[in-house]
Amino acid sequence: MAKIWVVAEAQDQKLKKVSLEMITLARQLGDVEALLIGDGVAAIAPELGNYGVSKVIVADHADLQSYTAAKYARVLSELIQRDQPEIVLIANTATGRDVAPRVAQRVGAGQISDIIDYADGQFIRPIYAGKAFQRVTAVAHPLIVTVRPNVFAAAEAVGGTAAVETAAVSLAADDLRVLVRDVVRQISTRPELTEAEIIVSGGRGMKGAENFRILEALADVLGAAVGASRAAVDAGWRPHQDQVGQTGKTVSPTLYIAAGISGAIQHLAGMSGSKVIVAINKDPEANIFKVADYGIVGDLFEVVPLLTEEFKRVLD
Ligand code: FAD
Repeated sequence: MAKIWVVAEAQDQKLKKVSLEMITLARQLGDVEALLIGDGVAAIAPELGNYGVSKVIVADHADLQSYTAAKYARVLSELIQRDQPEIVLIANTATGRDVAPRVAQRVGAGQISDIIDYADGQFIRPIYAGKAFQRVTAVAHPLIVTVRPNVFAAAEAVGGTAAVETAAVSLAADDLRVLVRDVVRQISTRPELTEAEIIVSGGRGMKGAENFRILEALADVLGAAVGASRAAVDAGWRPHQDQVGQTGKTVSPTLYIAAGISGAIQHLAGMSGSKVIVAINKDPEANIFKVADYGIVGDLFEVVPLLTEEFKRVLD
């Protein structure tokens, strides 16, 4: 059976959902082994066995507490060269996108990026900002594959235990040239955009930063994250980390509500993978309605508060 590696991501001693999603894909490809890289991550290794992972390789070291591309690329590429897995799955997150090509270059691997499906032995990835899909087959191994979050179902616990191996970590001076002094976390009670099940996004139609209050009220009722189009971000109404789209974040929630967003191709590139799309726009010709499952033609300043009230009534 092919040896498939999942580079698991964890935060605060907790596996990120995308790690379980990659395990779902990995199970279709062969025997699943996982890698955990960080400081103090050994404690979560046994949990992976519960999801059908046969072995967990742990690279646990104080120098790996914060992510830098050089350190993680070093650890990953040395382990790949040592164990020769056929396919290495890395999350298509900010850090995954950063480290994957460096690792591919070091180990002489091919890379397939941002895959959203796997069928008939082919990886499927969107191209041209989601206008078309490319089917890619690997002709050589090892192969590095980055996996879009929120697309595959998270693996269900199947019971079982994984063998845990602690890998020796040796970082060279070159790998430590960049030192992360501090990580400042934004405190938010809302889910992170890329992990959110529900996202409420606003665009230029919101007409001002203060009006996002009505979207936040809707998000609070739904337990949703708040996103934005680039127009709203460029206007200074929302921080850049809220931007959804080609030059922002790629999201695939179960429900995406777009208010006052026209549906430019660059915005669709970041959210068209959402399972259900609801668009609120006063222009019936707006492009967003072409991808929407439910369209509400109307003034968002009337529609959004009505939706909030109605959801509150139903969910209470
Ligand atoms: P608009 O296109 O101005 O649309 C506003 C919409 O609000 C309109 O449809 C209007 O009918 C509606 N509206 C107005 N008032 C109301 C109301 N009261 N009630 C209901 N509806 C109302 N864009 C992104 O979003 N993300 C990206 O990552 C991104 N990357 C880009 C990268 C490049 C290289 C380029 C060139 C562009 C990129 N863009 C991106 C910009 C993109 O092309 C669009 O300009 C942008 O998405 C438009 O944002 P918008 O839909 O909020 O604004």
